[in-house]
Amino acid sequence: MSTYSDKLKSPKWQKKRLEILQRDKFTCFNCGDKERTLHVHHESYINGKEPWDYPDEYLTTICDICHKNTHALKTEFEKFAYRVLMCRDRDAEPEIRLSMRSIIHLQLSGIVDSEGCKIKRK
Ligand SMILES: [Zn+2]
Ligand SMILES: [Zn+2]
Repeated sequence: MSTYSDKLKSPKWQKKRLEILQRDKFTCFNCGDKERTLHVHHESYINGKEPWDYPDEYLTTICDICHKNTHALKTEFEKFAYRVLMCRDRDAEPEIRLSMRSIIHLQLSGIVDSEGCKIKRK
């Protein structure tokens, strides 16, 4: 039995990871950064699938900071907003994308609550 982090050391994952990094031109898909450490992130998990067996659409190159933010998403609202942001069709609904991005930003900086409506006092 190998743990998930053992599996990520497998050559099969390293190959898949490289393919995704090349597809995304070694650039964070979320913020466009090219300097920070990049992660290949699984957008969702399928029970019983090996990390390298996922279809490419499930895998996204994101930088260290965006990756931490992604894993910090807790509420369904945040996850929904994230999915809108990460939609591969970059031209889709630019206004929705823009407002989602600012809501997520406010939430991550702790200014609004998880419903994205109440302003917290510091
Ligand atoms: Zn991840
Ligand atoms: Zn990023």
